[in-house]
Amino acid sequence: MQPFGTTPDGTSISLYTLANRNGMELAITNYGGAVVSLKVPDRKGTFADVVLGYDSLQGYIDDTSYFGALIGRYGNRIAHGKFTLDGVTYTLAKNNGENSLHGGAKGFNKAVWTAKDISASAGPALQLEYLSKDGEEGYPGNLSVRVTYTLTAQNEVRLEYSATTDKDTVLNLTNHSYFNLAGPGGADILGDELMLKTDRFTPVDAGLIPTGELRDVAGTPFDFRTPTVIGSRINQNDEQLKLARGYDHNWALSAEPRKEPALAARLHDPISGRVLEVWTTEPGIQFYTGNFLDGTARGKGGQLYQQHAGLCLETQHFPDSPNHPAFPSTVLKPGQHFHSITIWKFSAR
Ligand code: BGC
Repeated sequence: MQPFGTTPDGTSISLYTLANRNGMELAITNYGGAVVSLKVPDRKGTFADVVLGYDSLQGYIDDTSYFGALIGRYGNRIAHGKFTLDGVTYTLAKNNGENSLHGGAKGFNKAVWTAKDISASAGPALQLEYLSKDGEEGYPGNLSVRVTYTLTAQNEVRLEYSATTDKDTVLNLTNHSYFNLAGPGGADILGDELMLKTDRFTPVDAGLIPTGELRDVAGTPFDFRTPTVIGSRINQNDEQLKLARGYDHNWALSAEPRKEPALAARLHDPISGRVLEVWTTEPGIQFYTGNFLDGTARGKGGQLYQQHAGLCLETQHFPDSPNHPAFPSTVLKPGQHFHSITIWKFSAR
């Protein structure tokens, strides 16, 4: 553990580094629970940091792109910042046009989490806890959240999320790491090959809110069932690609959360050979090609992150689920225990 700076209100923030016996390293800050760096070998065994982020705490305090952060209480969008639960309408901050995005004005990405080293036989591990108070950002119920990051000897990062509440509420937890398997200063992500193990996605309107349809990917630029170069269709004259300025959509993985993590996505950088597989129990995954990065964020080593500098594979429940009764439910009730697992498996070929 190292000091990582102090917030404007005087809270000391730390940086925790987990290392495994293969030399892989994962650094996490308890500010926003963000993954700050992740060093992974290529096919020759050369390590590089495969996530975008900042050199200092100030970067994370000023950040508007959610680099590496834990997202909540509700990841992705809620239409018009409104939802109704048990007959009560709740109003959220509209921090993304007409909609609420990633938990509102001060989401879990701006929270200071309580960290604890819980390294065990499964590998070095960090536990982060946060109590989101009843009414915070307009959401009902005191929500106790726990996220555990474990780095295994198999070069996997295992993210385990759990939560309990004292009132009915909604939640959608994820991690917002932007990956670039080429490492710092390499090419953008358009040359990477992606496989998404699903045949449906949820098309969106102009505000990027799902219309409610589950659309078959066959015959569309959204078909990643076989590995496809990300940039090969991204500029096609397709209504959905135009609305989002690229890929920024939820693919449906399963009708309900799974008991055990299943393969959702495989990303391959043909130049370095690095491969990232995403396994999850979550029913959806947001594939986002960093469309809104515009070179204004000064990242690690002074790098200005341009459009498509990194991509996100956010395991999640579907966007705007509280307003779509047909989507897998995001409601959590007192006495219930929310639990989900996502695994990033790294290799090279
Ligand atoms: C969303 C994008 C949004 C980005 C913010 C993603 O999860 O899908 O629409 O711009 O987060 O960094």
